[in-house]
Amino acid sequence: MITLNPQTALVLFSGGQDSCTALIWALGKYTTVHTVGFHYGQRHNVEMEVRQAFLKKLRADYPELSSGLGEDNIINLQGLSEIGETAMTSEIEIVMDENGLPNTFVPGRNLAFFVMAGALAYRLNAGVMVGGMCETDYSGYPDCRRDTLEMLNKAINLGMESNLTIETPLMDISKGDSWRLLEELGGPDMVAFVNKGSHTCYKGVRATFHDWGYGCGDCPACELRERGWRDYKSG
Ligand code: ZN
Repeated sequence: MITLNPQTALVLFSGGQDSCTALIWALGKYTTVHTVGFHYGQRHNVEMEVRQAFLKKLRADYPELSSGLGEDNIINLQGLSEIGETAMTSEIEIVMDENGLPNTFVPGRNLAFFVMAGALAYRLNAGVMVGGMCETDYSGYPDCRRDTLEMLNKAINLGMESNLTIETPLMDISKGDSWRLLEELGGPDMVAFVNKGSHTCYKGVRATFHDWGYGCGDCPACELRERGWRDYKSG
């Protein structure tokens, strides 16, 4: 049994609103916070650019908060896009499938993310993995649910004889409350910082800035983000 450092965290960081919020949360809670991102054949490269820019700006604008920020890691999971065609990884229209999930669902994606992140955490001596997964998310991705992550957490620890824990600070809260959490953590400035610096749009659009952030304004991710922002602003 290996005892990993419970004060060192590894954040699954995509540059989206949720993982940016999870990162800020983790920086306030753990001594050292590493980040990891995944290449899985996303159909646009915006995510990868945004996450790097976010980390850079965070170090510049919040030197004290980011003093515990460790190394950023990228793991290649291109194999996921070879397995199947989904809207996230190829140029097809975003629609709801008959199973009630948007075709942006990539089967096994979060499972793969956590297994790979677990292996990395082991190497980094990080006892905690932090993710921005949210059960209240409209899309209801089954691999973002608490049950899935709890069982996965168990499997990872059994398989590595480790004491890793998975933390998901946004699991039970709405998108509006997610902005409120950010305001509690860093005030209105931090809300504005994440609103500007994060990326949510499925289509990778960053040409237009709305009050709720960058995006095309009509894909399901933009709609969800705008709704959350309106909820936050309405009090
Ligand atoms: Zn969009």
